[in-house]
Amino acid sequence: MKDLTFSTGCAIAQNIKDGKVSPDEAHSFFKERIKKLDPQLKSFVEIYPDPLKEEGASALAGAPIAIKDNICIKGKRISCASKILSSHISVYDATVIGRLKRAGLQIIGTTNMDEFAFGSSTENSCYGTTKNPWDFSRVPGGSSGGSAAAVAARLVPFALGSDTGGSIRQPASFCGVVGFKPTYGRVSRYGLVAFGSSLDQIGPITTNFSDCAHLLNIICGHDSKDSTSTPKDVVDFTQALKDEAKNVKIGIPKEYFAQGLNQEVKKALDSVIEVFKDKGAKITEISLPHTEYAVATYYIVASSEASSNLQRFDGIRYGLRAAGTNLKDVYMNTRGEGFGDEAKRRIFLGTYSLSSGYYEAYYVQALKVRRLIKEDFDKAFNKVDVILTPTSPTPAFKIGEKATDPLSMYLSDVYTISANLAGVPAVSFPCGFSKDNLPIGAQLIGKEFDESTLIRLGYSFQNVTDFHKKIPAL
Ligand code: GLN
Repeated sequence: MKDLTFSTGCAIAQNIKDGKVSPDEAHSFFKERIKKLDPQLKSFVEIYPDPLKEEGASALAGAPIAIKDNICIKGKRISCASKILSSHISVYDATVIGRLKRAGLQIIGTTNMDEFAFGSSTENSCYGTTKNPWDFSRVPGGSSGGSAAAVAARLVPFALGSDTGGSIRQPASFCGVVGFKPTYGRVSRYGLVAFGSSLDQIGPITTNFSDCAHLLNIICGHDSKDSTSTPKDVVDFTQALKDEAKNVKIGIPKEYFAQGLNQEVKKALDSVIEVFKDKGAKITEISLPHTEYAVATYYIVASSEASSNLQRFDGIRYGLRAAGTNLKDVYMNTRGEGFGDEAKRRIFLGTYSLSSGYYEAYYVQALKVRRLIKEDFDKAFNKVDVILTPTSPTPAFKIGEKATDPLSMYLSDVYTISANLAGVPAVSFPCGFSKDNLPIGAQLIGKEFDESTLIRLGYSFQNVTDFHKKIPAL
């Protein structure tokens, strides 16, 4: 059988079109690889015996894809890596799943994540921790850690993740792959189990920008089933696959290069700046002055929305139902047994911030700061076209290192959450390796609905570097 390990999703689809590989062969190839390597990596929750596929056409038709376990696939188990949902079967397809099927992709299974997407390490999963394929003693990042690890290990050419505060970009940076969070409203959230409804976006995790642009073409677009989905026309993102950075104005926010940034990450970012300079981009220092409030603001807004969204898991409507002699006991026992520690922590944080007496002081205050953070971006984008930052202050940390210290875990999101608070698109791409051979990610943040410039710059960078071609020795 043809070795597809190093083939991109586009290349696999092209091989299928040319009759060199059949869709079944493509599926078997990756299924065998998963069988061989995933028992150690633990990136998958479920591998379907037969892939889900429909007759459909697109540049990616026939390519296999994996889906984060918080996106509904009709007739399949969806658990969000939570005990409370582990027996639940989706009764409908998320809009993105319908779109993938109509584009002819083969859905091969679901990937591990932090419970309900709460986390930055995939340690908060009822199935156990996914390993970082570059170093099994380290986390893959989170919450889409299963998707990022699977793609990095080439167990599948690409996957979908979801990003509320960095959950696509941070694991992509820890695993050395490309993770794209589109503008809020670009991709329908219909069928994505809600975490923070004003922040959540689904997006692709791929090894390269061509696959990323093609997947965005498939999943983006208006959906009347999601009132926050934008009616704006979707451009053809593959038009941006050009090596062209001349005169692009790139802003470097000084707050993102301050205290707490690992020196190896800083060095890698310096070399990204050099690459773009060589290509004729104009580099300017900018300021996003409210950055220091982003973590606090995000954890109030996101937890408030999460506590409200999780109310539906009551033991009556979905999944787990614990015993109890009256309704209140059933509710309490189900939620007590079904939610893990981090989910409970978010519920406490969120209900506290929303409770009468504290609502104005916390939730409303956080919304005001959110507005200031958004205005920082508006002002910056009057001067520059895109913003370049590290994705995470450090490369992948050790399993267990932050598991008992929620605050230090939350602080690892410092560079990713502002893009969600502001609703703007952002992408992480591999830009170097630490001396321990751990991938380092750079982040580009764009203007609302200007995904194309991010793709163009990312593509330009990958055209002259080969970090994205390196794969972990497994
Ligand atoms: N790590 C962040 C959190 O725990 C972001 C998670 C996400 O984007 N889903 O909330």
